[in-house]
Amino acid sequence: MEGLLEQRDPRRRRDQDPVGIPWRYDRPADREVASLVTACLAYGQVELLRDAANRALEPLGPTPAARLQDRGVPADAYDGFTYRMTKGPDLVDLLEAIRSALTEHGSLEAVYAGRVSASGISDDDTDPTALHRERASAFVRWLRSARRREELARGFTYLLPDPADGSACKRLHLFFRWMVRGPDGVDMGLWDAADPSELLMPLDTHTSRLCRYIGLTDRKSVDGKMARIVTRRLRELDPQDPVKYDFALCHLGISEDCIHTRSEEHCPGCPIEAICTLD
Ligand code: SF4
Repeated sequence: MEGLLEQRDPRRRRDQDPVGIPWRYDRPADREVASLVTACLAYGQVELLRDAANRALEPLGPTPAARLQDRGVPADAYDGFTYRMTKGPDLVDLLEAIRSALTEHGSLEAVYAGRVSASGISDDDTDPTALHRERASAFVRWLRSARRREELARGFTYLLPDPADGSACKRLHLFFRWMVRGPDGVDMGLWDAADPSELLMPLDTHTSRLCRYIGLTDRKSVDGKMARIVTRRLRELDPQDPVKYDFALCHLGISEDCIHTRSEEHCPGCPIEAICTLD
């Protein structure tokens, strides 16, 4: 696994990754907002989702945090927006929720940090991710409730899934990885409210398959439980920073260096070939 980290050049790959989009902004407040918008849209093919995130952020100009706080969501800017499950009104819901966070609490981090205190976590839950999981769920519930509607659009809740529902919530945990880890040229390290040791692996179909190949889990369902199992195993390698392997693992798939089948073309030289159990 350390070989995998060494062989991948994260800075060179950053601009092909969704995280390259928030890095374009100079101010931490703008990176935070651009990160949540980009991470929420981080489903589907990477080129397409990057295009969708660029289209979502473009109407907010070079300072999206100030734009949302001072002048709100630009009227009509998202009327024709569509990206797979996400339509213009879903995106407006997300941006309005972010705007509420900024106007009421000053930042998304403040919403995250203020939702749950450590005393709210049961003493017998010794999992280092316990407080973070509670806060992550409360963070989502706060953003959802900021729309002050009894019935939320499915497209909006798809953008902001609640980890308490049991799903892996890859995009949400990706956002937390960007905010809490680093700065290391990929993750931005903007938040102090959580520690890298508390984070959960942002698992999707592709990274979960790789995790199975190298024996981190044999679980079939890609869900919150699998994310906890994989993170626990990675903590054995690095207790302080278990999700540092995520970017490199993910890019084995994005770069198509791994095509999820044994191949003479792809497997020799793969940094995790010695531990890959795929037949
Ligand atoms: S050894 Fe081959 S199948 Fe296994 S992870 Fe590497 S490229 Fe993929």
